[in-house]
Amino acid sequence: MKFYGLQQDPSPHYTGKLNADHPWGLPGVEPCPTCRTGGGLIGLDHPCVDLSGLPPQELKKLSDPWPVPREEFARLRELVRPLAPPDAVLEPGATFGPLAGSGSGHFGQLFMQYPWALHARREALARLQEAGIRGLQGCPINVRFRVKRPPELLEVQLQHHGQLHPDCKPAAPKPPCPTCGNDFLKLPEHPILAIESLPGALDVFRLAEWALLIIATERFVETVQRLQLDGVIFQEMEVR
Ligand SMILES: [Zn+2]
Repeated sequence: MKFYGLQQDPSPHYTGKLNADHPWGLPGVEPCPTCRTGGGLIGLDHPCVDLSGLPPQELKKLSDPWPVPREEFARLRELVRPLAPPDAVLEPGATFGPLAGSGSGHFGQLFMQYPWALHARREALARLQEAGIRGLQGCPINVRFRVKRPPELLEVQLQHHGQLHPDCKPAAPKPPCPTCGNDFLKLPEHPILAIESLPGALDVFRLAEWALLIIATERFVETVQRLQLDGVIFQEMEVR
């Protein structure tokens, strides 16, 4: 089985743009006293997770990304945990809820606002699911489009699976921080996927070790091409 990275088709006629944010998120954390790293991560989007039932004073805190002490972060995370799927990655910067804002331009059947955010028109998502593609959960978005016939775009919530192969990482990595566990890993220039860590039951997923990477199987790519769904392009990844 081959695996591919996904990216937005750079052709100039795909002018679609969303000016929208997820309504809620876990804040960043204040810098660690030992290694001085803090803040939050990007790519940990859970658009199908609905926090609207939480008390308004907590939702206010979950709408402010400004870093908080680690104890407060841990408390907020426990508020979110029962509302999120078991595989959700509840790290600083994780976001929740339907994208809200405005949109404009021309969108393909598939669309990536960022390399870590996959969207699909409702019809395209349904066709992929009918074709047996596994791993796509579509979440409605709350976006106003300034066009005559607005696209019905959904944001795809992806499961997190898989690791990078040790061969693409530094031979002598820095030991993780004893206080916060930060492993100081940077994305290698040529990432290699560790084959035994990849899920057998999904055709598209977010790489657990590097949430900015969305990975698809050969089956996903072939189905997209057969159904002539446009908007994203694929690049084969090395697997070992
Ligand atoms: Zn640390």
